[in-house]
Amino acid sequence: MELVKKKEDCCGCRTCEKVCPKDAIRMEEDLCGFLYPKIDPDKCVDCGLCLQKCAFQSGYQKRKEYDPFYAYGVRHKKEAVYMDSRSGGVFTALSDHILRRSGVVYGAGPDREKGIFYIRHEEADTEEGRNRFRGSKYVQSDLNDVFPEVKKRLDEGRTVLFTGTGCQVGALYAYLPRGYDNLYTLDLVCYGVMSQKLWVDFLHMREKEKGGKVETAEFRDKKTCGWKAHRETVVIDGKPYTTRIFAKLFGGKWIRPSCFSCIYTNKERVGDITLADFWGHEDAIPGMWDDDKGISLILVNTSRGRELWEAAKDEVDYVDVTTYPFRHSRMRTPTKKPDTYDAFWMDYEKEGFAFCAEKYAGHKMKARGGGGPEREEGLARKFIKRLLGRI
Ligand SMILES: Cc1cc2nc3c(=O)[nH]c(=O)nc-3n(C[C@H](O)[C@H](O)[C@H](O)COP(=O)(O)OP(=O)(O)OC[C@H]3O[C@@H](n4cnc5c(N)ncnc54)[C@H](O)[C@@H]3O)c2cc1C
Repeated sequence: MELVKKKEDCCGCRTCEKVCPKDAIRMEEDLCGFLYPKIDPDKCVDCGLCLQKCAFQSGYQKRKEYDPFYAYGVRHKKEAVYMDSRSGGVFTALSDHILRRSGVVYGAGPDREKGIFYIRHEEADTEEGRNRFRGSKYVQSDLNDVFPEVKKRLDEGRTVLFTGTGCQVGALYAYLPRGYDNLYTLDLVCYGVMSQKLWVDFLHMREKEKGGKVETAEFRDKKTCGWKAHRETVVIDGKPYTTRIFAKLFGGKWIRPSCFSCIYTNKERVGDITLADFWGHEDAIPGMWDDDKGISLILVNTSRGRELWEAAKDEVDYVDVTTYPFRHSRMRTPTKKPDTYDAFWMDYEKEGFAFCAEKYAGHKMKARGGGGPEREEGLARKFIKRLLGRI
């Protein structure tokens, strides 16, 4: 049985792996660092459940109840909260309500052991745990075993808030065997996700350049550069370094192939509430919160979303923008594949990350100890030769 005919058909959500009754599916990383399912033909019994449950190929359940949806421009009342969040910090207000009800929140954060080198979805039932999910990480968060865990919590009767990209939220609904009254979901307006492999290569390159160890990093550093600018900050041995290398690669659209045919980039939202940056706020709410510190846009799509919003809205300042025509391209069409897409990945495979950072993001690598990019590549070649020699 062929599960993924072309890469555009798979968003890497792991649903097929988790629903397979024969445990015949494993996720494997491709050369670009994206996960794809691989079927073990000796175990597969051709039952077809994997394809049936694949929301990306079979379509997702439309959940929007309101047309138009209720829309609000939002900012958390506490500056410390919205400055720590990507947009206006509405995620914190909504998830606080779930935590107060002794519920659990699922989101994307740095792994507890590997830190910022590995972004994964996990569960939080405390504020401290939930705060790890704040801020947008522009790589694909690994869902790991989260879907079975969510189901377990729902079956136990716990209130669950699941947050993620449209494809992750759609996949969760496809995975669950039935509807649950104790489940709330937040989806994100999403441009696309890069691979964790590129991010890790980037961090290792910075370590070489600065001669130290990465402690933490922000994919988009609002505190240093403002909400609208796109620059990453990496902290190495206690010192922050702000650059525009990874941001340029993200802007260059070397994202997951399925993002170019994403079925969720429209107004038929899949979550109870949709979160976004409030681009276009200058025209919709002129003069309001015009300080480059971040504003959230939320779309309330279902009655369940409405219930959650009503319970959380006292924590935030907000303005009704239901009649405002949103400019978000990712609520109309998927991101367009760039002409240079294949060339980038060929260069990456052949020449490595530092080469691509220079060619596609204009960054000349300066390794500590006097090496430039040529020296780095030369060292890599020598290392491979030595390795092959040994084999
Ligand atoms: C990959 C990505 C692309 C985005 N593209 C756009 C866009 O094109 N236009 C737009 O208007 N908004 C986009 N957003 C949404 C926006 O950046 C904010 O996430 C959103 O406005 C919420 O902000 P906040 O201040 O309420 O939340 P914050 O407190 O910053 O919370 C962040 C929330 O995002 C989740 N999250 C963070 N990283 C990931 C990830 N890698 N995968 C899944 N979930 C994640 C967390 O679990 C948490 O629920 C994107 C977000 C991501 C993660």
